[in-house]
Amino acid sequence: MSVIHPRAASTESCEPVPFIDLVAQYQTIKEEVKSAVDRCFESQTFILGDEVAALETEIATYCDSQFAIGCASGTDALILALLAAGVKPGDEVITSPFTFFASAGAIHRIGAIPVLVDIEPHSFNLDPEKVEQAITSRTAAIMPVHIFGQCAEMEPLWRMSAAHDIPIIEDSAQAIGAEYRGRRTGVLGTIGCFSFFPTKNLGGAGDGGIMTTDDPEIAARLKRLRVHGDLGGYNHVEVGFNSRLDALQAAVLRVKLRHLDAWTEGRARNAERYCELIEANGLSDVVKVPTILPDRRHVFNQFTTRVVGGQREKIMKSLKEKQIGCAVYYPIPLHLQKCFAYLGYQPGDLPEAERACAEVMSLPIYTELPASHLERVVEGICMALGRQSNLVFPKAVAQLQRRAA
Ligand SMILES: *Cc1c(COP(=O)(O)O)cnc(C)c1O
Repeated sequence: MSVIHPRAASTESCEPVPFIDLVAQYQTIKEEVKSAVDRCFESQTFILGDEVAALETEIATYCDSQFAIGCASGTDALILALLAAGVKPGDEVITSPFTFFASAGAIHRIGAIPVLVDIEPHSFNLDPEKVEQAITSRTAAIMPVHIFGQCAEMEPLWRMSAAHDIPIIEDSAQAIGAEYRGRRTGVLGTIGCFSFFPTKNLGGAGDGGIMTTDDPEIAARLKRLRVHGDLGGYNHVEVGFNSRLDALQAAVLRVKLRHLDAWTEGRARNAERYCELIEANGLSDVVKVPTILPDRRHVFNQFTTRVVGGQREKIMKSLKEKQIGCAVYYPIPLHLQKCFAYLGYQPGDLPEAERACAEVMSLPIYTELPASHLERVVEGICMALGRQSNLVFPKAVAQLQRRAA
């Protein structure tokens, strides 16, 4: 066995490490996707139809829900779900300030009021205690966001939901296949909302979304809301939207759904490797790896670390100079977004969300990420901090140390 020089990884391969590489994923499923797309063109059915119905059945099975209803995007899924859950203009909906904009944007869009409460520092998810404190007589829904692919703490929310008769709408856009105590997202509340944006764990070839529920009346309402409130036969019982899922998207998504669990396992393996390398390289004092809670299946839409001691900008600048992908999700908490100034929040109001925004750094996590690239990411962090990375290959080094001893 040859000795691995500390700088071996960087001198061997200097190609960029992209943050995400959808081309690499496509290479593994190209033929399947092409034949699915061909099937759509042969049928010349492009909107809803058999492909969408089949995807709906398959997603319902995957999430263990009674119904799944496709729509045009994850954002639309949230909007339709809020309406179907009976949320009215002026009502309050409690959600997280530390999420993609659409979570609160959807609430605003239907004329309701986003009530943003602080997050748990260890999970980046809604803090149930803060949710409880925010419930008023006008609260019409609670919207937990399973951020980065790990479920929010649900049990206290279930208790609040039952006690106050408030529906829970899951923003599961980042969390398809994630589990809380053995149950999948999509059935952890009244309605689950998923996004098929291309960079999500299950991503289409464009925009798309789906909603899951066990309630037949809600399912029927979601189905008509996506087609202008039409009951069928141009009977418009309410004003809805044009928010349908394309057959082409459904056909592609059906192919990808078959691979989803294998991809999720790949992401989890990469996450484990990062944790191992960050620890072994003595970086844990600066780079805090994500907390994986014991009663959950984390699907790692992102691998999001916390960089403490104000070193994030230095590390990210250095990684970017080496063309190593890294990203901040999210730099500005929603309560401090300009468009939500009318809500009246001030800096300091939601300190954990603000601290998260100042500290988070996400690293490349996609399944096809080569092991050598993952090692380069960690080595890049070592170099940014001016530290030796001679433990980039901890297993090999441990072996050598054992032999030397
Ligand atoms: C991606 C995302 C959405 C929106 O989904 P789109 O399909 O892009 O409309 C909503 N919420 C969260 C948390 C997301 O990550």
